[in-house]
Amino acid sequence: MVDGCLTGMETTTAEGRMVVPARTGRGVRVAAGRRVSVVDLEGGQVGDVFAFTADMSEHLSAAHTRAATDRLFPAQGRHFVTDRRRPILALVSDTSPGRHDMLIPACDPARYASLGAEPGHPSCAENLHRALAELGTASPLTPQPVNVFMHIPVDGDELRWLPATTRPGDAITFQAVVDCVFVVSACPQDLVDINGGDPTPLAIDLLPAD
Ligand SMILES: [Zn+2]
Repeated sequence: MVDGCLTGMETTTAEGRMVVPARTGRGVRVAAGRRVSVVDLEGGQVGDVFAFTADMSEHLSAAHTRAATDRLFPAQGRHFVTDRRRPILALVSDTSPGRHDMLIPACDPARYASLGAEPGHPSCAENLHRALAELGTASPLTPQPVNVFMHIPVDGDELRWLPATTRPGDAITFQAVVDCVFVVSACPQDLVDINGGDPTPLAIDLLPAD
């Protein structure tokens, strides 16, 4: 570890900040019991959060979490569960306005094609798989993520896509329930107004062990 920055290959003993540059993704391995924050460095930026068990056999499932919590959106003090309904992360603190989404899948090349983007537009799905490769692992799936700071209010049975309301430095903090692989994509969406039309960086802070 150099200058307090994680390299992407650091695992459970390192602590410090890994910047997730705008429109890209990064991942870290987080040991059970450790806390990890996602920080919106400049404000108004959505992050797609993915988590897998260390052996990659289970993934955080937004759908199973909605069933486990009886809620559409994350709630402080509650667990996120896997596709086998086992807790993988807990939401332990949140300094943001508290808007986070669990309804919308990760953006991907097909999404951008449908919006009329030129081929090659970056996406959260591709960012996930690139970040996993950098950690020396892979998944055949692109799970539906937890979209931190993403403001998708429900109006009756309709969804609205509103800009993130986060301020610079706002952070949401998770605690790993089991050893896991934790990935954040700084969503590159600039054709729908969730990032105010201007994607910016995030950071992953792996906090010191208690
Ligand atoms: Zn995205």
